[in-house]
Amino acid sequence: MPNENCLNGMKCPECGSEAPFRIAASSWFKVFDDGTDSHEDVEWDEDSCCECWDCHFSGKVADFRPPTLENKVQRAVANGIGQFLLHNPLPQAEHDTLKKVSSAIQMQVTVLFQKEERDGRQEDDGGETPDHDGGSEEAT
Ligand SMILES: [Zn+2]
Repeated sequence: MPNENCLNGMKCPECGSEAPFRIAASSWFKVFDDGTDSHEDVEWDEDSCCECWDCHFSGKVADFRPPTLENKVQRAVANGIGQFLLHNPLPQAEHDTLKKVSSAIQMQVTVLFQKEERDGRQEDDGGETPDHDGGSEEAT
């Protein structure tokens, strides 16, 4: 069963395992003198380090995604912004903003592809319940 949630589409390129993976994520922790409390949202992106639990293959999160069109688009976005940052050094705050924009675009890419997948499935069903509020159909 392919991953569809947190590990959407991820699979170890070495042994084919679909979970679990060790991912170097960042988060905010409430830290006391005697240790940490609960953490807030955990964040990682395509560039985060990732390791297969089973075979210990390690790479980037992006390496664990099969090259579907969606992944290619996401990599293009990540690479594009990465290249830009490489050639245009920015103050840390702006750098972080651009990284957030990159993540947001990648999220949108996922949403877009999921929507197309749903639309495709509806057409396969024979289109018994046409969607009238979409307005994107060209048939007149
Ligand atoms: Zn593996």
